[in-house]
Amino acid sequence: MTTRLVVIGGDAAGMSAATNARRGNPELEIVALEKSDWTSYSACGIPYLAGGDVGELEDLVVRTPNEFRSQHRIDVRTGHEVRAIDLDRRRVEVRVVAQSRTFSLPFDELVLATGAEPWRPEIPGIDASWVLGVQTLTDAQRLLELGEGSRCHDVVVVGGGYIGLEMAEAFVQRGAKVTLVEGSDQVMGTLDPDLAEPVRAALEGKGVIVRTGVKVLGFEDDQRGAAPASGGVVVTDAGALRADLVVLGTGVRPRSQLAAAAGIGLGAKGAITVDRRQRTDTEGVWAAGDCATAYHRISQRRTHVALGTVANKMGRVAGINLGGGYATFAGIVGTAITKVCEVGIARTGLTEREAAEAGFVTVASTWSGTVRSGYMPDAGWVKVKLVAERGTGRLLGGQIVGTEGSAKRIDTVATALWAGLSVQDLIDADLAYAPPFSSVWDPVQRAARATARQLS
Ligand SMILES: Cc1cc2nc3c(=O)[nH]c(=O)nc-3n(C[C@H](O)[C@H](O)[C@H](O)COP(=O)(O)OP(=O)(O)OC[C@H]3O[C@@H](n4cnc5c(N)ncnc54)[C@H](O)[C@@H]3O)c2cc1C
Repeated sequence: MTTRLVVIGGDAAGMSAATNARRGNPELEIVALEKSDWTSYSACGIPYLAGGDVGELEDLVVRTPNEFRSQHRIDVRTGHEVRAIDLDRRRVEVRVVAQSRTFSLPFDELVLATGAEPWRPEIPGIDASWVLGVQTLTDAQRLLELGEGSRCHDVVVVGGGYIGLEMAEAFVQRGAKVTLVEGSDQVMGTLDPDLAEPVRAALEGKGVIVRTGVKVLGFEDDQRGAAPASGGVVVTDAGALRADLVVLGTGVRPRSQLAAAAGIGLGAKGAITVDRRQRTDTEGVWAAGDCATAYHRISQRRTHVALGTVANKMGRVAGINLGGGYATFAGIVGTAITKVCEVGIARTGLTEREAAEAGFVTVASTWSGTVRSGYMPDAGWVKVKLVAERGTGRLLGGQIVGTEGSAKRIDTVATALWAGLSVQDLIDADLAYAPPFSSVWDPVQRAARATARQLS
């Protein structure tokens, strides 16, 4: 009898799982259920669509449902939302969105790839039509509708993480007046404060009004009679801000409610607990991507990160296993990169604060200088911070902020972390040099030398 694999969620993790399972087992019946109209889209591209760098929404679709159907024989059903999982009867209850009709679909194997959703803090008025989260192409469509044209003068971005920063830049590019409100004392809470400072300066240089240490208390519709309201006021503990549109960059939560309701185990930050082969605690049920936990190789703890890099790898691992092969997910070291204006921002491993929370005693050092040889035109600037374990000298993390050509150097640090290298190993590494690319000691090695001095 044919085995039926049902995949819930048709983006990075879900479709990687489905296509890899197909590669391994041509006989498998594969049904992928996706509640939106799209599969395999790049949410990562939404800020660049909003800012006008990317032309059309469709450009963000990597592979369409029809391509999956014809090239991979995957029965993709868009507009199909799974409402419940019945583990005893091994069935999912599916709602056909356009018809408000439900049916029950049996499965032998099940992949949960439901992703994450923007966190909506419990603030009065947060469900107003002009207060939007950003996660799916449906959100992007709505953003474009509200952000388009002459009506959108004032945009407030709530939250200074990377999505907040990218969206702030996008709306400045569109000509809006953008205020970014962040409750803590710094933007980019994933960096140590000293590295977050130049990021703030870059935002302000671009024209974004940055208000840190400010808490949002509520959203109030305009009294101008429009229905639905076309904007309103963001009430904060430091005064009111007028907004035609509010974009939430308040972080994401794993979309694990379906799993929880079915009794499937949850772990870090409410994400679905998985083992190294992406199996949940329930026989025949797998999970991958933003809805699942990940093992952090440096803190040696299970954690949750919502990144496309991780989602694709996890989906691939689940799919290979489902196709009859053997694969394990090797974990993460917490590498991420973004840019705001001309400034690249990257991190890997643990910040000083995270390392302390994980129980490490650390030394840290920041090196500031030019990206390329100082005598080159446009040598640029860069700040590299490294965190290492006192005593052993093992690298624990790195952060880089700087102009073009600097941030992607984080991959050198990430690779060093992956291999468990020490600060001295990084100093000794044979890295490339020519004046247009680097100084003779790469900025990462300059930071390693500064850290080594602290260690000794
Ligand atoms: C604005 C933005 C920028 C980003 N930039 C980057 C970046 O630069 N680099 C990076 O690595 N990552 C980035 N990310 C994160 C990256 O997009 C996600 O990590 C990745 O999309 C996760 O893939 P996923 O398949 O796990 O989940 P998702 O992409 O969230 O897909 C889950 C899918 O499941 C569907 N679904 C959910 N519940 C159901 C249900 N009950 N029934 C049917 N379907 C359901 C959803 O509609 C969705 O399509 C960004 C995210 C955003 C929002």
